[in-house]
Amino acid sequence: MATSILKRGFKTDAERLAKEYREKLKIHPCGALCAFKLAEHLEVPIFSATEFVSDEKDIGLLKGLKGELSEWSALTMVTKSGNRIIIHNPYNSNVRQQSDLMHELAHIICNHQRIQQVYNFEIPFGMLEYDEVQEEEAKCLGATFQLAKPCLLWARKNGKTIEYISSYFNASEEMIRYRMNTTNIKF
Ligand SMILES: [Zn+2]
Repeated sequence: MATSILKRGFKTDAERLAKEYREKLKIHPCGALCAFKLAEHLEVPIFSATEFVSDEKDIGLLKGLKGELSEWSALTMVTKSGNRIIIHNPYNSNVRQQSDLMHELAHIICNHQRIQQVYNFEIPFGMLEYDEVQEEEAKCLGATFQLAKPCLLWARKNGKTIEYISSYFNASEEMIRYRMNTTNIKF
């Protein structure tokens, strides 16, 4: 297995949190957890990036220029009153929006502090937000929220296809493969 920069025990904690939030939201341990619902539970408001940008160039960046997929996903901002909010790209596919939001919620749950803190209300496209370890943590935790181990085990036991899992959990095929690799639950 590839060496991980994650702290020892982080993956176990991530699985525990995925289970706890499902319990709090009355979702079965193998059930689908919606990022919008989790954000609501955590009282983190989600805004569409289109509420902050309107000129054609920025909308083009959100949509992805020349038919390419947009690189810009989401970011967390701290308001003047100290509340955290998430601004996300509504032009990304549904499965991508879920992983974008789960990733940002993971940063918030881990209480990660950004390298750069000062914002006006401008969307800083493509900026570096967090250090490498924090990024890896958010990637791991966000992915675990979407596809916790019990979800993967349930899918394997019931012979579900990747397509089925993707639509049932609202997760991209790339995300499913990432989780199959990191959990070693292959099917
Ligand atoms: Zn991040």
